Amino acid sequence: QAAGSGSSDVKKQTKLGIEVKKEENLAEWYGQVVRKGELIENYDVSGCYILRPWAYFLWEQIQAFVDEEIAAMGVQNCYFPLFVSHSALHREQTHIADFSPEVAWVTKSGDSELAQPIAVRPTSETIMYPAYAKWIRSHRDLPLKLNQWNNVVRWEFKNPQPFLRTREFLWQEGHTAWATEKEASEEVYQILDLYARVYSDLLAIPVIKGRKTEKEKFAGADWTTTIEGYIAASGRGIQAATSHHLGQNFSKMFDITFEDPQTQAKTYVYQNSWGLTTRTIGVMTMTHGDNKGLVLPPRIAKYQIVIVPCGITASLSKEDEDALVNTLKEIEGKLKKAGLRVYGDYRDNYAPGWKFNQWEMKGVPIRVEFGPNDKSRSQLTVVLRHTGAKSTIPIENCETKLREILEQIHNDLYAKAKAELDSHIVVVKDWAGFLKGLDNSCIMLTPFCGEPSCEDNIKQDSARDAVVEEGAPAMGAKGLCIPFEQPEKLAENQQCCHPACKNKAKYFTLFGRSY
Ligand code: AMP
Repeated sequence: QAAGSGSSDVKKQTKLGIEVKKEENLAEWYGQVVRKGELIENYDVSGCYILRPWAYFLWEQIQAFVDEEIAAMGVQNCYFPLFVSHSALHREQTHIADFSPEVAWVTKSGDSELAQPIAVRPTSETIMYPAYAKWIRSHRDLPLKLNQWNNVVRWEFKNPQPFLRTREFLWQEGHTAWATEKEASEEVYQILDLYARVYSDLLAIPVIKGRKTEKEKFAGADWTTTIEGYIAASGRGIQAATSHHLGQNFSKMFDITFEDPQTQAKTYVYQNSWGLTTRTIGVMTMTHGDNKGLVLPPRIAKYQIVIVPCGITASLSKEDEDALVNTLKEIEGKLKKAGLRVYGDYRDNYAPGWKFNQWEMKGVPIRVEFGPNDKSRSQLTVVLRHTGAKSTIPIENCETKLREILEQIHNDLYAKAKAELDSHIVVVKDWAGFLKGLDNSCIMLTPFCGEPSCEDNIKQDSARDAVVEEGAPAMGAKGLCIPFEQPEKLAENQQCCHPACKNKAKYFTLFGRSY
């Protein structure tokens, strides 16, 4: 008998597991899941984390998916420097006004002060666009479509959380320049659709597409589109990715022009920028994880299936043990050949139960158990991570069956998250309904006038003194997005939802507490 069956080992096992419940202390649960699930290791600079291979693989899958799609759209990858000069950073005033509190500066080299401090990129508009001004001369140089996979630094003061809000994060940032506003606008939506598919098709998470309110749009953009996620466990919305139309704001500041072929007039280009970050992994963890740890959606899991030999007791002869393990290794080879990501856990210093816990904590979608009984019946015992359901399947054609099960898991996870979202979006037309929705951890679709000052009032007046999470008072609701799909037609005379607002509503806007 391998280690792990004694009572002290049982204790160790529980200690290794997730020690708090998701529904009881979400912040602590999340911290334990990302650490014990081996996504993250702590680091001694606040807001920065080590991404371990288990997490980095997820990011690589997301990267591969996005990269292929944007390449097909004609976007090319490139790399611009990490640093930005003071003067370039300050060229677009609205942009810098929003970012400046979060910009990290390099002020010294060794012991000597730099003559001019240089900033670390919080995003690369101001780094890339001086080069765009050089490269774009004629309409033949358009559209220019570039993307970078890189890291950015935003020295945020909100409570950091691994993946969800970090001071350094990984992302891609696309920056495109166009001759016409129409072409540029079309791309904004095309990219937003792609981002929505990253969430739905890879991560099994539904999102809501819409436009940001005036108050929440990207600094320097004409308009921002967004996909918003919903974290049921906290009742909070989360900005899942954004695609901005910058109009001519930056091209005017950086003098990015081309000669109009018809009129020969100097014309400013229209620009977009769009980004998707490692926040994706945090949203995935929050959405699917449970009290046993991570639950990885099958399409991005590093291992989709873990194989564990079982029933190897003292009464089993050495030959039978070898035969069992060899059969299992053959099955493993067959599954790998079929393109499934499989790990055979043949470690002999851990008992099966210990291995089960570890792989559950790390979120592997399917566990295959195989013991002498399974062997004699030519079957595999299959246990699903997301439900705990156990069944058996014949060894013959098991690769086809397992592939079907993986697809089913993806669909189950998506359906569960969609049901959570649908049951927490409420249409409310008055302030009392708004506050009630908020108290019920909902996000609210409500008639709104669109004015930033009114949005400030809504946020302030919906904040409560009650302490809900992480010792912080319940925050007020902000505008998450103006959904493209409106719940119903606004009545002619529909007032804005805030009681002090005298304006008519322009559209239903999604409001909620947010990360
Ligand atoms: P932005 O360039 O501000 O539009 O940001 C692009 C995307 O980055 C947002 O839509 C968020 O999903 C994500 N994001 C923003 N801040 C952070 C952060 N501190 N950590 C991780 N992701 C972030």
